[in-house]
Amino acid sequence: REPVLEIRNLNVDYGLGDDAVHAVREVHLTLHRGEVLGLAGESGSGKSTLAYGATRLLAPPGVIAGGQVVYHPRDGAPFDVLALTPKQLRAFRWAETSIVFQGAMNSLNPVHKISVQLVDVIRAHTPGLTRAALTARAAELLGLVGIAKDRLDAYPHQLSGGMRQRVMIAMALALEPQVVIMDEPTTALDVVMQRQILRQLVALRERLGFSVLFITHDLSLLVEFSDRIAIMYGGRIVEEAPAAALYRDSLHPYSHGLLNSFPALRGAKRELSGIPGSPPDLRAMPHGCSFHPRCPKAFAPCGTHLPPLGPPPAADAAGDRTVACWLHPTTAPVG
Ligand code: SF4
Ligand code: MG
Repeated sequence: REPVLEIRNLNVDYGLGDDAVHAVREVHLTLHRGEVLGLAGESGSGKSTLAYGATRLLAPPGVIAGGQVVYHPRDGAPFDVLALTPKQLRAFRWAETSIVFQGAMNSLNPVHKISVQLVDVIRAHTPGLTRAALTARAAELLGLVGIAKDRLDAYPHQLSGGMRQRVMIAMALALEPQVVIMDEPTTALDVVMQRQILRQLVALRERLGFSVLFITHDLSLLVEFSDRIAIMYGGRIVEEAPAAALYRDSLHPYSHGLLNSFPALRGAKRELSGIPGSPPDLRAMPHGCSFHPRCPKAFAPCGTHLPPLGPPPAADAAGDRTVACWLHPTTAPVG
């Protein structure tokens, strides 16, 4: 498996100095060519901060406190996204990595036709195309997401929420990026529509060969649509595994709780129990395992020692996976 985007030891803070809140801690995450990697966790776990940090879209007071984000272009040598100049960054966005924001469907400009907005994205990066070529490309992009080309002349308010969301996905694909990041792209839509859009995206991924980092709090969607899943809690990755392995046999009690928080469409019915308590306050993170105040399995080392993320002991391992939990220790607690 070839990497396309490697997040290495990324740390993101909000604020500086003693007041800094550590929103993303020591995250390593690799997106491979052609895969759908799901990133799950409750709101406030650091998922969006991780994605915005890795693509340099953090708004102040967010700051990168350390790490590297190595991007592997189709041709040429890999480079660190965090070291790009503003000009290089403008060329990188949309063309190499695009992102569909949370609530993006409401970010279409209400006074411009869909065609104008699509053409703007294409033209900004591919100057010199004729009017006819631009319109043809815009129509082709709408076609990719299942929208008839007569909708090119529509204004956003004339389209349903689902269609607006598809237009945003078409825009994200406009310059054939290698990486498409989706941050809760479908939460505003009903469940049936969400699944329809995701199914379409996965089919496009197979046809066009891009990779997807898909961020959501709804783990049941990821189980259906992603190849691998990483789970975040309190700014850290606490488990990463192939989707099927995670569903069958989650190792981290938090993953287990998340899986039981959403109804699954396929597979055995699970009793939905959710997770008691609420996510940790990033300003006052619990010592040891940050999940311990909510964990039904917490035991001696959990309140004092941070469990490292690593491959579980052989007996637990079902393929390539990592976990950060003292129930599956990679090393003995020290100190
Ligand atoms: Fe629960 Fe302890 Fe594992 Fe944390 S380390 S998830 S508290 S068992
Ligand atoms: Mg978010």
